[in-house]
Amino acid sequence: MKADADALVIGAGPAGAASAILLAQAGWQVILVEQCLYPRQKVCGECLTAGSLAQLDELGVGAAVRDRAGPELQQVGWMYGSSTLTAAMPPCTEGPYRYGRALGRDQLDSMLADRAAAVGVTRIQPAKVRAVRGLPGDFVCEIEPLDAIHSTAGPVARIPIVRCVPVVIDAHGSWEAGPCERGVTARRWPRLGSDLFGFKASFRDARLAPGLLPVLAFPGGYGGMVMAEGGRLTLAGCIRRDTLGLWRTRTSNTSAGVAFEQYLRHACREVTEHLEGAYRVGPWMSVGPLRPGIRIDDPDGPFRVGNAAAETHPLIGEGINMALQSAHFLTNRLLEHPPHSLDVRGSRMIHRGVAETWRHAFARRMHLAMLYAQVAMHPALAMPFTALLRCYPPILTRAAQLAGKSRRPFDQSPAVEVHHEHA
Ligand SMILES: Cc1cc2nc3c(=O)[nH]c(=O)nc-3n(C[C@H](O)[C@H](O)[C@H](O)COP(=O)(O)OP(=O)(O)OC[C@H]3O[C@@H](n4cnc5c(N)ncnc54)[C@H](O)[C@@H]3O)c2cc1C
Repeated sequence: MKADADALVIGAGPAGAASAILLAQAGWQVILVEQCLYPRQKVCGECLTAGSLAQLDELGVGAAVRDRAGPELQQVGWMYGSSTLTAAMPPCTEGPYRYGRALGRDQLDSMLADRAAAVGVTRIQPAKVRAVRGLPGDFVCEIEPLDAIHSTAGPVARIPIVRCVPVVIDAHGSWEAGPCERGVTARRWPRLGSDLFGFKASFRDARLAPGLLPVLAFPGGYGGMVMAEGGRLTLAGCIRRDTLGLWRTRTSNTSAGVAFEQYLRHACREVTEHLEGAYRVGPWMSVGPLRPGIRIDDPDGPFRVGNAAAETHPLIGEGINMALQSAHFLTNRLLEHPPHSLDVRGSRMIHRGVAETWRHAFARRMHLAMLYAQVAMHPALAMPFTALLRCYPPILTRAAQLAGKSRRPFDQSPAVEVHHEHA
């Protein structure tokens, strides 16, 4: 079947937009499909690491991001009960930037999607990829326009669109079922008390010191807050299903988001202190349940990047960094092949190579994030940890370093040699 483009990317979050930009910059014809109209808010702590700032430069939006983002995050903190402990954020010693900053996802994601269009990507938005059929080299994607479509390829009627492409990149995130799910990713998950739900809201006139990035630790959850662009404070966090459920039985007639805020103020009193006199702008947003884990399990399916490939506990604030890097890992491999030469065998090799690079770069960080999350959520661990920090705050600096805060992006050239299989 005649192909409509060289690649189709599902989802214009950081992973999808970065993949589309990198392929288009190398001359590929790319279609990027996003279901939401931009700008849109998103559940996210909105912290960008120093390494991510460098990657955004490469993608062509670095200057615009740095123009608007909040102050440099030079201090890391730990808030538990009525204690706030702080230490120096470890600086990134390689690359152009020492410290991360925060910027609203409404702005970051719009900048990336606009940049994709500027480098020639055909953007179909708002439209949802409903189904992907076929095998590598010969995929058929069914796309449903969701509104009056705005496409860089010209006006598109509101009838289902079908696009044939040799390469599909699944960057749909992880908080809803994707159109390519089969195998482990399609499995039905049981409802567990330990399921985590993510929340986010913005505040004005908060007292948090600019440049401080504290982890909020409380029984049954964890969070973070940060000063982003223009003095806006982002408060984001996760809470277990059973903890939130129990709290909601005590608070009637409130949304889950408001109940989360009330519980947070009750369980982590330092939050109330820093929000004294502040007011919320916009509603609480929520997602979930989160499914931290690796999902690169289908060698004959579309390629996966970002959260669609793996999700880490957001406590370490590395999700965007991992999304951008995973786009680099994949596109580096793809660009070793002419766009239309990919078949099932070539695709399997790329899947294998990317998975290996990916594990090498992130697996340790993901395990560490899991450990940090357990410490933050369980008082039996959080209490002694807080006592330890009180005696020796630089442990926080070291913990942030291990979580990747001072790391430059993992080498973006292929770390594992591609071994061509012979028939
Ligand atoms: C509470 C919380 C706090 C966090 N804090 C931070 C932080 O401070 N720093 C950080 O780096 N990370 C943080 N993260 C993680 C970060 O938000 C994610 O890792 C990141 O958004 C992943 O990017 P992505 O591009 O893979 O997916 P997403 O950003 O989820 O983008 C996926 C896109 O695909 C679209 N889509 C989905 N399905 C379809 C479809 N069928 N068709 C078309 N489009 C589709 C969606 O609308 C969405 O725009 C946090 C997460 C949570 C839950």
